[in-house]
Amino acid sequence: MNLLDLTPFDAHRTVSAWLAERGDPAYRVRQIAPRLWQRPVSQWSEATDLPRSLIDALETSSPICHLTPCARETSSDGTIKFLWTLPDGLAIESVWIPEGRRRRTLCISSQAGCAFGCRFCATGRMGFQRHLAPWEITGQVREMLLDTEFGRPTNVVFMGMGEPLHNWPALDVALTTLNDPLGFGIGARHITVSTVGLLPQLAKLAGRPEQFRLAVSLHASTSQRRERLMPVERKYNLTRLIGALHTFARRVTLEYVMIEGANDSTEDATALAEIAKPLGAMVNLLPLHPGGAPALAPSSSDVMRAFEGRLRALGVNVMLRRSRGLDIQAACGQLRVETSVGRGVAPEDDGDI
Ligand code: SAH
Ligand code: SF4
Repeated sequence: MNLLDLTPFDAHRTVSAWLAERGDPAYRVRQIAPRLWQRPVSQWSEATDLPRSLIDALETSSPICHLTPCARETSSDGTIKFLWTLPDGLAIESVWIPEGRRRRTLCISSQAGCAFGCRFCATGRMGFQRHLAPWEITGQVREMLLDTEFGRPTNVVFMGMGEPLHNWPALDVALTTLNDPLGFGIGARHITVSTVGLLPQLAKLAGRPEQFRLAVSLHASTSQRRERLMPVERKYNLTRLIGALHTFARRVTLEYVMIEGANDSTEDATALAEIAKPLGAMVNLLPLHPGGAPALAPSSSDVMRAFEGRLRALGVNVMLRRSRGLDIQAACGQLRVETSVGRGVAPEDDGDI
């Protein structure tokens, strides 16, 4: 059994049942369960308050699974990109982003590759490999906690590889483990799920009682222009997406990657304001990371500032973000590709859904 694949509640129940079956005292669960996420151990032998026989039994029946670190790159701005190998040999990435003195954001992956084929995204160009298991999602945080150099991130964003809502069952468990005080205890408002807007799963996320933050990758303010950048528009179009966002009693952030000539005109800004204002949404303008899309160019900084100014003048709450980890190809959504190329695996053609 892999306890790390369960929610803290289910793990507690499973360990209790296992102890009872073995005839071990029930209180042992209070020594074992915290070692999964609260005060994690790398192997059961580190839980030195347990008797040797119990450690051996845990090692046999529920060994601790790990992501294997296989590369690490540090950017001049302090951003650190981790490449992990999964048990089946696939690789995923996480990005550690220190911001100021107190904020440490970890950007994590939810899938190996991605099925949604956004034109500007390096992960999209890889195509879909597979969903991550819950433990492979939360493991990215767990490995940070085990490393004394890093520790607990203050914020977690699902902006690495993959479309988190496409992997809803695992995301559902992972969100619980990240947030639960018996898990990592990271506040829901410090956990952001970023999505292209898969409507059925968006409704499930909105139905959860915790105030997880929601970021929606809009990237265009008309259906026609969005479809050119994001094939998902054909399945869940802008009108339905915006309609759905209006039904959630939750603030959303709209992500908008600025691409020269594709979505950065004055009319685009006006149309974006017409979407964002009634939603009360915050707009994040992101410079296109050129690594994700050889055929596309980022908007110039003058155009980005003018776009931002126009939105602000129209009463929209807008932030022009700077790219982090540019020199290490760590822009979120733009991960892993140079390693695949380095291994001689050609990025796949733009896939459809
Ligand atoms: N699949 C989800 C989450 C992962 S991508 C989503 O698309 O929302 C995280 C963010 O990175 C998204 O807003 C995505 O549009 C953005 N992104 C992808 N490629 C990028 C690039 N080349 N430059 C800048 N941002 C990019
Ligand atoms: Fe997938 Fe997000 Fe990249 Fe689109 S931007 S291809 S949904 S990871």
